[in-house]
Formats: sequence, structure tokens, C-alpha cells
Amino acid sequence: MDISVKIAITAPDGVVHEHEIAAFEKGCESAAEIGLSIGDSKELLLNLQREIVAAQAAAFCSARSTCPCCAGKLRHKGNKPVQYRTVFGDIPIDSPRFYHCHCHAGSAQTFSPLTMLLPRPYRARNALAGNQMGIFGLIRRHSGFAQRCAANRRATER
Ligand SMILES: [Zn+2]
Repeated sequence: MDISVKIAITAPDGVVHEHEIAAFEKGCESAAEIGLSIGDSKELLLNLQREIVAAQAAAFCSARSTCPCCAGKLRHKGNKPVQYRTVFGDIPIDSPRFYHCHCHAGSAQTFSPLTMLLPRPYRARNALAGNQMGIFGLIRRHSGFAQRCAANRRATER
């Protein structure tokens, strides 16, 4: 039988986006064919995560694509791909870049809204953000893991 898993995400503007996140072809003649395999579940969760992260990033950037002072639409400079690491795998995100509005002076000519949402360390190295770190984050934080890593890094840099 063919099994299709679809999700619907309603954006802040009320538009509903529907996506198929997984499709499985399953038999039903042996115990090995019954239910999802670990591989199926990993694919399902990674695809689900990819759609959720993309929708959240798009909503965040869309809300920052107008000038906070004059409400004018900001000029789009282009997109740059960034990787966001999650417990389910790395998620590529298209990160838009906008020119600051001429109505006020900014410190830089352009900015990328996602740098406000996903600070550089989360995008590049430590990528398991806040609540995604779960129990592993708590163990690392309270076991002195981070301090030992920093000490090891300092020792190897000498
Ligand atoms: Zn403006």
C-alpha cells in the first residue's frame, strides 16, 4: 500500500501551505513490513523539521522585510544559504539579505534578519538550540563538559 504523510502550515498571513513530507510503500504480509522503520522515522522527522524551520524562518524574515520607522518595503539584496543544525539533521535555509531603509542611518548597508534569530554559533557549530538540546544540553551544562572542552581547546592552541 502507498502511504503519504502531508502537513499543513498556516503562515502568519493566513495562507495555508501544504506539503507532502514523506511517502512510503509498505506491504502487509510479514512482521518486518508492519509499521515504520527507524530509517522511515528519521526521514519523516527530518522532512517535518525542514518544513517547520523553513516556514518559521520565512515568517521571521517576512516580518522584517519592511522598515520599522516608515513601514516602507526594504530592497532585497539576494539570498545566502545557511545550515541550521537540529537533532534531526542539518537544515538548509535560504537567508535573505535586505538593504537598510534610506530614512535612517544604519551601521551597515545591508542586514540579514536570520542572524538575529539564529546567532552565528548556532548556525555554524553548536547548533542544537535551546529546547532542542533537551537532556543532553542539561547534562553538558551541569557536568562541566563545556568548561573541559574550552580548557582542552586552549591547551591544544598553545
Ligand atoms: Zn524607512
